[in-house]
Amino acid sequence: MTFCLSGIGNFSKLWKSNPYRGLGPGHSYLALFVRDHCGIRNQQRWFSLKTISPQNTKATNLLIAKARYRRKDEDSNQVSSDSHFLSAGAAKKRSQMNPQSKDPVMPSVRNTIQLPTKPLNSEEWDKLKEDFKGKANFESWIGSQMAHSHSSVNVAKSLLAWVAAKNNGIVGYDLLVKYLSLCVFHKQTSEVIDVYEIMKARYKSLESGGYSLLIRGLIHSDRWREALLLLEDIKKVMTPSTRNYHDCIQGALLHKDVDVAWNLYQELLGHDLIPLLETLEAFFDFGKDIRDDHYSNKLLDILLYLRNNQRYPGESFAQSIKTWFESLPGKQWKGQFTTIQKSGQCSGCGKTIESIHLSPEEYDFLKGKIMRDVIDGGDQYKKTTPQELKRFENFVKSCPPFDIVIDGLNVAKMFPKARESQVLLDVVSQLAKQNLRLLVLGRKHMLRQHSRWRQNDMEKVQKQASCFFADNISEDDPFLLYATLHSGNHCKFITNDLMRDHKACLPDAKTQHLFFKWQQGHQLAIINRTPGSKIGFQHILSYDTVVQTTGDSWHIPYDEDLVERYSYEVPTKWLCLYQKT
Ligand SMILES: [Zn+2]
Repeated sequence: MTFCLSGIGNFSKLWKSNPYRGLGPGHSYLALFVRDHCGIRNQQRWFSLKTISPQNTKATNLLIAKARYRRKDEDSNQVSSDSHFLSAGAAKKRSQMNPQSKDPVMPSVRNTIQLPTKPLNSEEWDKLKEDFKGKANFESWIGSQMAHSHSSVNVAKSLLAWVAAKNNGIVGYDLLVKYLSLCVFHKQTSEVIDVYEIMKARYKSLESGGYSLLIRGLIHSDRWREALLLLEDIKKVMTPSTRNYHDCIQGALLHKDVDVAWNLYQELLGHDLIPLLETLEAFFDFGKDIRDDHYSNKLLDILLYLRNNQRYPGESFAQSIKTWFESLPGKQWKGQFTTIQKSGQCSGCGKTIESIHLSPEEYDFLKGKIMRDVIDGGDQYKKTTPQELKRFENFVKSCPPFDIVIDGLNVAKMFPKARESQVLLDVVSQLAKQNLRLLVLGRKHMLRQHSRWRQNDMEKVQKQASCFFADNISEDDPFLLYATLHSGNHCKFITNDLMRDHKACLPDAKTQHLFFKWQQGHQLAIINRTPGSKIGFQHILSYDTVVQTTGDSWHIPYDEDLVERYSYEVPTKWLCLYQKT
């Protein structure tokens, strides 16, 4: 796309004479001549962009804040869909909290207008606009609709041309970004580059959505290195997303620049970001064509990363890993997809999978670390006063070791339709019948009469279990960890919380792995409650479901595409790799 300035004088002069005036009525404009791509080629058409105000600090800050807010929101959604076993309920709750978040006008007008399937001319667009009964701005609405339904680029281009023709050649930033998203979606790289040129000429900086689209579009072109510059631009205001890194790494691998790819990966880890599994998979896919020990070792590091972070590849990633191993010349790797028997033996090769049980040394090591780093040391527990922690420690020391420690509040909220005190009583009664010594951790508010917390139920709980009620503002987890670890290696705990925060504050990979392992072997998660009030617990396995190696073998648990795994469950399918020698 070529464009030239005409009739407005000097570009930079215009830029300076229109200081960025915010998003209000004071928009500044720059008109560009853009060669028309949708109608008759080579016919120049008046086409320009409405500016955002990149150097207006207030507006920029707002955009940054918005971007941060959005990422935080996405993160928390991710965590909750991943960590909450009632995922269907959680999704519903989210949708209720954020109704019609995409476009509030859409439902009422959805059927009044058929999205065009071929480019329209001005008269046709005018007619369509007349037919539009919605209250929203037509241009913006139709742009959103086309972006959502992945309309063809040509149709979108005719929309832009029509908008430009009506508005003295001006096309708003939003509409341009929607167009860009279509070009990226349809992999129309030359169009992406055209939009990129316009944006580069017009805006000093973009918001993160625009950058992300440009990066994703550019990595397939010869100009992929410019995507790295855009990544640098993002870094000036915020930490790029894992998706941004993924795209850049993908671009580097597509263009065989391995060093750039690994450096970006290292940088991503340096930001404490959690790489997308797709990113890791891309390295394995590319590795098939590389004969280089350095590269191979990096891939083995990725497998150890999966081990240390208790992450599992998906089905296609597992296939990539298998293919890569089998492609190694002279090594005779053989891979198969298999399962592990209850005894802990691999059905493929017969080797024994690592035990879930911690050795006495490992247990003491972990206990020491958690007591020091998580319970005493952490700033994380400012919500627990030292006095209260002391009161709790004295309480635990005065009791004989427990068999099961119950996170009362978490357990009670497991079944939203049932009364909380009733659920807790059911759990406690069922376990007490097995002569287990129980500790229930709760909050003081649970003792106050309430429709969901009946005193009668709570009295029955206290008869069957030792109870400790913390202040209502306290964090439960440190108490849960302390009591369980203090009771010894036999003691289990019940919560459906994953305690991710603790993993983050454990000092090193070794401790983190021991914690994962201990958690898998000691955490009882509740999976159902039948009408007879019988509680079902998740079965604890005898072996450790984690990526593992003995040097001449690898065993890699993976998630099947069509199986939805609850967050507290572990995969049941394994990739078994061994050397035939
Ligand atoms: Zn095996």
